[in-house]
Amino acid sequence: MLTAITGVNWGDEGKGRMVDLLSEQYDIVVRYQGGNNAGHTVINEKGKFILNLLPSGILRETTVNVMGNGMVIDLEHLVHEIENLRRGGIAISPENLKISERAVICMPYHKLLDCYEEDRLADAKYGSTRRGIAPVYGDKYMKKALRMGDLFHPETTKARLADIVAYKNLTIEGVYGRPPVSADDMWAWLVEYGDILKPYICDAGLYLDKAAKAGKNILFEAQLGALRDIDFGINPYTSSSNTIAAYAPIGAGVPNLKLDNVIGIMKAYSSCVGEGPFTVEAFGKFANDLREAGGEYGAATGRPRRVGAFDVVASRYGIRMQGADEIALTKLDVLSYLDAIPVCTAYEVGDKITTEFPFGEDLNIAKPEFTVLKGWKCDISKCRKPEDLPKEAVDYIRFIEKATECKIKYVSVGAEREDYIVMY
Ligand code: GDP
Ligand code: MG
Repeated sequence: MLTAITGVNWGDEGKGRMVDLLSEQYDIVVRYQGGNNAGHTVINEKGKFILNLLPSGILRETTVNVMGNGMVIDLEHLVHEIENLRRGGIAISPENLKISERAVICMPYHKLLDCYEEDRLADAKYGSTRRGIAPVYGDKYMKKALRMGDLFHPETTKARLADIVAYKNLTIEGVYGRPPVSADDMWAWLVEYGDILKPYICDAGLYLDKAAKAGKNILFEAQLGALRDIDFGINPYTSSSNTIAAYAPIGAGVPNLKLDNVIGIMKAYSSCVGEGPFTVEAFGKFANDLREAGGEYGAATGRPRRVGAFDVVASRYGIRMQGADEIALTKLDVLSYLDAIPVCTAYEVGDKITTEFPFGEDLNIAKPEFTVLKGWKCDISKCRKPEDLPKEAVDYIRFIEKATECKIKYVSVGAEREDYIVMY
C-alpha cells in the first residue's frame, strides 16, 4: 500500500500529527520535498517534538524513515535536529533513517542569499523563512548544487565547491554588495556536518523500490500544502518545490511506482503563514480569538499566522490538485467557542461570483462570500465516535464535505495521538 498524506490548504493543517497517527500502519515514511522551512509539531507519550527535516515516522520505533531526493537538506540543521530527538529519548540510526544520495545540500550561502534577496525586496518580500530554500532549489535547477552522495567523493567535490563558490560570489558581491564567502569555510562546514551524516546516505530510491516490491506499506509525507506548490499554488508566495502528491513518487526516488491512496489534510478553518493572497483573512477580534484558540504560530519561526474562516473555494481546488481520495479534517475542537461559524463558499471577483480558485490578479482582488453555520458551544475534544459529536458539529462536517466534494474520513479534535474520530 502506497499512501501520500498531503496538505490541502496553505500548510500547517496538522499533517505532522496525522502522519504520526497513521504511520502505525506503515513500515516506511518518506519525505519527498522541501527543507527545514516548515515544521511539524507532534505530541505523543514521549513529549512534544518539532520536526523540520526528519520524517514524522522517526517517532515510532519500528518505522524506517527516508529523506528523498526531492528534499533540500541543511546538514547543520539536520545534525541538530537528530541530537535534539536523541535527547528526547528517540533512537536514530542508519537502520531507521535513510538519506537519499541525490538529495540536495542546502549550504550556508543559500541562507545568506535568501536573506539578501528578501531584504532587497523589502516591502514586496515573498515572506521567505530565510532558510535558503528558494536559492538552493534555484541552484538545483541551475545544476550548481551539491548532493548528499557527493560527500563520498571529497576530492572532486572540493574542487566543484570551489568553482560553485566563485560563481555564487559573483552574485553575493556584484548584486548584493556583500562580503564574499570563503570556499575553505564552506568545505570545513561540509566536512564537519557531512561526516556525521554519511552513515545514513544511500540509494534511497532502490531501497524503496525493493521495499514496495516486497509488499511493505509506504507513507509519503509532504511538507506545506497544495497552495504552496511551486506550479499550482499562490506563486510567488509559494515554496520552491512541488508539494503535491503527484510529485511524491518522483521526490522519493520511485517514479516507477503509483500511489494507491492520497489522504488530504484539511483544517476546519484557514491559516496562512507569511505573505500572499489569503482571501478569507480575518482581522480584529475574530482573528485574534481564532489565532489564540488554534495556537496559530509558526512551528519553524514562531510567526503569528494569518487566520480566517474555512475556505471552500481554495480547499476544493487543493483537493483537486492533491488528487485526494479522502480527507482528514483537523482542529475541529478549536471552533468550539464560536456561537456562529462563517464558511467562505464563493469568491466575488470584480462583478462575477465564482467557486473556482482564480489565478493571479483575479485572486488578489477576490473577496469572500460567507455562509454562517451554527456553532456547537461545547467541548468536543473527548468525542471518539461520530455519535459523540453534537448535531451542529456533524452539520458543519457534512456541510464542508458536500461543498468540497470529498469524503471526510477522519476528524481530529485534539493535538494528541488518540484525539480523533473515524467518520466512515
Ligand atoms: P503541520 O505543519 O501541518 O504538521 O502542522 P503544524 O504542526 O505546523 O500545526 C499543527 C498544530 O496543531 C500542532 O501544534 C498540533 O499539535 C496541533 N493540532 C493538530 N491537530 C489538532 C487538533 O485536532 N486539535 C488541536 N487543538 N490541535 C491540533
Ligand atoms: Mg507546520
